[in-house]
Amino acid sequence: MPKTIKRILVTGGAGFLGSHLCERLVDQGHDVICVDNFFTSQKSNVQHLLGKPNFELIRHDVTHPLWLEVDEIYNAACPAAPGHYQFNPIKTMKTSVIGATNVLGMAKRCRAKVLQFSTSEVYGDPEVHPQPESYVGHVNPIGPRACYDEGKRAAETLFFDYHRSNKVNIRVIRIFNTYGPRMHPFDGRVVSNFIRQAIRGEDITIFGDGQQTRSFCYVDDLINGIMAMMNGPDEFIGPVNLGNPGEFTIKQLAELVIELTGTKSKLVMKPATPDDPKQRKPVIELAKSKLGWEPKVPLREGLQKTIDYFKSVDMSKFRAPTPNY
Ligand code: NAD
Ligand code: UDP
Repeated sequence: MPKTIKRILVTGGAGFLGSHLCERLVDQGHDVICVDNFFTSQKSNVQHLLGKPNFELIRHDVTHPLWLEVDEIYNAACPAAPGHYQFNPIKTMKTSVIGATNVLGMAKRCRAKVLQFSTSEVYGDPEVHPQPESYVGHVNPIGPRACYDEGKRAAETLFFDYHRSNKVNIRVIRIFNTYGPRMHPFDGRVVSNFIRQAIRGEDITIFGDGQQTRSFCYVDDLINGIMAMMNGPDEFIGPVNLGNPGEFTIKQLAELVIELTGTKSKLVMKPATPDDPKQRKPVIELAKSKLGWEPKVPLREGLQKTIDYFKSVDMSKFRAPTPNY
């Protein structure tokens, strides 16, 4: 039991990352409110928490105001996979911008601390490698990824302006590609795609030449970093990169998934997606020095756990994202 039981709101709390965070906060004895519109998630992610007296689930869309009394807010609501956020790009931008405005207004009224789930996508297709927090990014404002990238950038702006103008106690984290159990099997992200394809013996689809890189962080490591940031010193508000600096080409990832699953699937090359970042790797010196945080789970180990999870779920129970106009 923590010394102080806090009332904690997690927006997007039924999603991949949100559900792991809710679970950890509930286990610590906090009074947890999960708000989600289930656009990209399903109740099964939080089913095991529903009977707990310190967990509450509210179906709500963060683009609409919400009146709650809370001590802390984790703002994770936003579709995160490219296929999900490009499905209704205008809604994605509204979720980031209006959603941030709503939680910041709540934080101001309640004097709550509020943490924004920002992203490595604020760096766009980076010209600086690896990416430190001081890099201001290289984002195409009119491309198909802009609804997400620019929405998240605008949300960061709102967080810092509420902090400067209204003294709201904020935290901003920039999350790099994170994977693990409870990813949506049809979200189209590279880890879920490759594992699903490998388990089913389908072709493994590589977009482009497979030489683009990403750095993959296991979910448990990331949640440790997120909670360290929320509970860290008030002088350190971020933005801070949270991710695993191990860098892999997409082709290397595909080969590792093939090895770990023992699949007979073949690699097939598909056209690259527009504005796809060619390289991505976080500098995490700030998180190390300010939070004493660094990831511990190697890719091979994390992938094995994720493969075990994908094998354990009935994929026919997952639906495509709901149209959300
Ligand atoms: P996810 O899609 O599993 O989770 C997002 C959740 O937000 C879902 O449950 C979805 O239903 C909910 N949601 C979406 N729009 C909403 C709205 N308008 N109102 C209420 N709920 C809404 O994705 P995730 O990977 O868990 O991502 C969570 C957060 O972390 C997102 O903000 C994302 O941008 C950020 N992030 C994730 C990664 C990653 O690699 N997983 C990387 C960078 C940033
Ligand atoms: N990718 C791929 N095959 C897939 C899905 C994704 O080659 O089936 C590539 C994608 O083009 C990108 C990288 O994998 O270069 C990571 O994509 P993801 O959608 O997971 O996340 P991103 O980091 O691009 O937001």
